[in-house]
Amino acid sequence: MSDSRTDGQQDQLALHGGPSVRSAPLPWELPGAHWIGKEEQALVSQVLSAQSPFRFYGPDPQHMVDRLEQEWSAAFDNRPALAVSSGTAALSIALSALSVGPGDEVLVGGYMWISCVSAIIRCGAIPRLVDVDDTFCMDPEDLARKINSRSRAILLVHMSGAPGHVQQIAEIARANGLPLIEDCAQAAGSSAMGTRAGCFGDIATFSFQLNKNMTSGDGGMVMCRDADLFRRVTALHDLGYARTAEGRLDTSDPDCQLWGVGARMSDLTGALALAQFRKLERITGHMRSSKWRIRQALSDIPGLGFRTVPDPEGDSGPFLITTYADAATCAAFTEALRAEGIRGPEGSLACLTMQDWGLHWYFNISSLTGKRSNSRDGFPWSHPANSFGAQIDYGRGALPRCDDLHDRAALLTIASCLTRADEDDIIAAFRKVAAHLL
Ligand SMILES: *Cc1c(COP(=O)(O)O)cnc(C)c1O
Repeated sequence: MSDSRTDGQQDQLALHGGPSVRSAPLPWELPGAHWIGKEEQALVSQVLSAQSPFRFYGPDPQHMVDRLEQEWSAAFDNRPALAVSSGTAALSIALSALSVGPGDEVLVGGYMWISCVSAIIRCGAIPRLVDVDDTFCMDPEDLARKINSRSRAILLVHMSGAPGHVQQIAEIARANGLPLIEDCAQAAGSSAMGTRAGCFGDIATFSFQLNKNMTSGDGGMVMCRDADLFRRVTALHDLGYARTAEGRLDTSDPDCQLWGVGARMSDLTGALALAQFRKLERITGHMRSSKWRIRQALSDIPGLGFRTVPDPEGDSGPFLITTYADAATCAAFTEALRAEGIRGPEGSLACLTMQDWGLHWYFNISSLTGKRSNSRDGFPWSHPANSFGAQIDYGRGALPRCDDLHDRAALLTIASCLTRADEDDIIAAFRKVAAHLL
């Protein structure tokens, strides 16, 4: 491999007609999907054979969701855990469990996923955007600045596989008496300084959608520090009431007469999620070692920057985020990488600029910038207790650090089954493109 800027045919960028580093597409991102195998098949078949796909009762329940919750809880400091139908539902349930509603602000980073602001708005509260720092997660200093008398909760999203300055944020939450929700949808299996993501705050949510570190197609988890809160979470995810030991609705408890969102996990999904959860450490271990081998091998390239990951050992590894001097260099570099064959199969989003990362950035969410409502009366924006929301502008310009990183950062997904040869190709392509463009 040569870094020299020779004009020989071999060194020409594929973008300019030279030979590409590789021709076969990289494997799909979708970490859990590559690991679906006979363990998943066996547990799913067991549920089918028993003709009992509902978790709470049936002819012969196999208790897959119960087992998933028990094993999950054991792996997370014995915090009670409840499986749900999606990460989006998990967020709604978490906010409602904390009684968040009109008149309340929820602080959330500007690099996140649409589900985060959607959950806040559907429960009637107003999102207060917080900028990110070079970890691509919430900036503790901007968080401290944005907290005010209407703040009711902090929704901290562990973006792109790894926590940022989570300990500082947990400290700020504690000092201000604000509940901390950790959205771990993109970071299942990650940790920081020996504490697992999901164990820093009061409630944690996870997603098992196909793009996440483990998958059951769709699915999710809500985990609580506090047992009373967990009782509310359980009622809310179902029909608003607790259940008896026989799995029937228990309407007797006046503290659990709520409005449920209908987000139970089926036992079929539970079977798939259980088999995947048992592989989670291996899946993230594979991605982490690929990612950090690649990152290490590129660390000496001037002009190529990397996202700050405060605790690399706790990184779950699904994304390598790089930064460039400016938007034009970032776009040109990414296009050249793709031409070198650093791309996934048709339809995959394996290698792209942050400008193509859509609804992860606050100003791309048109339902937020346009303050849209699901109802004719404009709720929650029209609610009298939310009149302060009229002053908030969610358009680009609200968060300077987000705007800057959005423009000049790019993202490479790290598949959970990369071979050493795949990693070598990625390294070679970055070095080749850097020799021409940086
Ligand atoms: C994927 C994701 C969600 C939503 O999960 P679904 O299971 O797709 O509803 C929520 N938050 C973040 C940060 C996500 O990446």
